[in-house]
Amino acid sequence: MEIAIETGFWRFLVAFGGLAIFGALEIFFQFRKPLESRIKHYIRNISIGVSNGLIMYITVGSFIVAYYEALAKHGIGLLNFFHLGAWTDIILSLIFLDFVTYIWHMAYHRIPFLWRLHRVHHSDLDVDVTSASRFHLSEVALSSAFKMVVGLLWGPSAIALAVHEAALGLAAQFQHANIRIPEPWESITRLLFVTPDMHHIHHSDKLKETNSNYSNLFSIWDRLFGTYTELTEHEKIIYGLKDYPKIEDVWMKKLIVMPLGHQCGASRIEKAVNT
Ligand SMILES: [Zn+2]
Repeated sequence: MEIAIETGFWRFLVAFGGLAIFGALEIFFQFRKPLESRIKHYIRNISIGVSNGLIMYITVGSFIVAYYEALAKHGIGLLNFFHLGAWTDIILSLIFLDFVTYIWHMAYHRIPFLWRLHRVHHSDLDVDVTSASRFHLSEVALSSAFKMVVGLLWGPSAIALAVHEAALGLAAQFQHANIRIPEPWESITRLLFVTPDMHHIHHSDKLKETNSNYSNLFSIWDRLFGTYTELTEHEKIIYGLKDYPKIEDVWMKKLIVMPLGHQCGASRIEKAVNT
């Protein structure tokens, strides 16, 4: 277990384990018929996720590991100050880091520069388990830098950080999966966790719907801060961005340069106000 945590091998296990589980559920319990062939969609998004992971690992991987080791060694951060115990550390970190991720996700929608990066994720015209790995490299790098700053202030242990990352990764795959939990289980699960139904609304091409349901693991943040949207006609949601409505608009090469492209002078909130 220690070797897996230190080397980061668990990231590989979680990513491909989740892909296998939710991918199998999509095959047997597919909710919506995809626009594009499942194989093509999987290959594109998995290629993006794998290349992002490899580039981050090769360029800054060892620096990030050394950084978190130094924080733990020198007892930096709030949790290190209070010494609350391993389990309390894990539970508090799961809640607090999920809240911070909610705020950070909202910032990606509300700040024009950040929206340029995040819209690569939202340009997906089909939403399935692989959409969880479809992020522009610049967003991955920026989020990683942001987490390092939060880690400096919060001071989670290595295991708490690993549990949070694993939970967040699996939650992302689950809520993007092209499946639907039958009622009443969907409504019950949604009381605490983000479900596919709740998150797919966030991928709607309608601005008001995109600018809602920012929560990642726990659904409570959207309810607490008034960003929660509930839809009954999920089948009518059109996924993606109105600026990029065709599959040819969101091919690999176009995704790489999308942050520099057209229609990105305004954040989603600014555009929603003006439309
Ligand atoms: Zn988003």
